[in-house]
Amino acid sequence: MKKISIAIDGPASSGKSTVAKILAKDYQFIYVDTGAMYRAVTYLAMINQVAFSDEKKIVGLIEEYPIRFEQVPGGQRVFVNQSDITEEIRSQAVTQAVSEVAAHQLVREKLVEIQQKLGETGGVVMDGRDIGTTVLPNAEVKIFLIASVEERAQRRYIENQAKGFSASFEELKEAISKRDYLDSHREVSPLVQAEDAILVDTTGMSIEQVVKRIKEIVIAKGF
Ligand code: C5P
Repeated sequence: MKKISIAIDGPASSGKSTVAKILAKDYQFIYVDTGAMYRAVTYLAMINQVAFSDEKKIVGLIEEYPIRFEQVPGGQRVFVNQSDITEEIRSQAVTQAVSEVAAHQLVREKLVEIQQKLGETGGVVMDGRDIGTTVLPNAEVKIFLIASVEERAQRRYIENQAKGFSASFEELKEAISKRDYLDSHREVSPLVQAEDAILVDTTGMSIEQVVKRIKEIVIAKGF
C-alpha cells in the first residue's frame, strides 16, 4: 500500500476514531487522534487552574508539557510528561470544556503544527474536525463522516454504560448537539466538509460496513 494520507473529519461521536484505528491497523499506517490533543490541552488547563478563556497561558502549557502518543498492544495511550492521561481526557468535564479551548486561534496553530509534523511522511490516518481543510489539505483521501444525532447519542450511551458512566440518552444528545454547534460555528477552522471530501452517512451502518465503504473509496481513488 502506498503511504498516502487519509483525513477523516466529522461531528462528535460519528465513529471517526473507531474507523480510523481499524484503517490504520489494516494499512499499517500511523493513527493520529487530533481530538485527543485538544482534550489533553483542556485537561492541562484544568489541572493547572488556567481559565479556558486564557489563550496565552494555554499555549504556554502546550510548550511546557509536550503531548505524546504511545502505541501499546491494546491501542494508543496519551501522555504528558510521564503521566498517562488517556482515561482522564475522556471525562465529562473535559468533554464539556474542550470546544471552548479548541476555538482559540493560537492553540490551534500550535497543535496543527504538531499534527502536520506527525503526518509529513504520509502513511497516516488522521481524524478530527479540520484535517481535510487545514491540517492535511493535500491528503489523497478525505472522508466526512456523519450520522444522525440520535444514533450518535445512542452509540455513546451504550459505550458509557459499559464503562459505568451514568449520563442519560437525552443528556448525551444535548451535549453532542452543543459540541457540534460550537465546533461548526467557531471562527478559526470550523467543522466543515472539505470541497473534495467524500460524505459517508453512517446512520444504520455497522463499523465493518463503514470500514468497507472507506476502503472502496480508497481503491476507487486508485490506491
Ligand atoms: O474528536 P473528539 O470528539 O475527541 O474531539 C474533541 C473536541 O476537540 C471537539 O469537540 C473539537 O472541539 C476539538 N477538535 C478540533 N479540531 C480537531 C479535533 C478536535 O477542534 N481537529
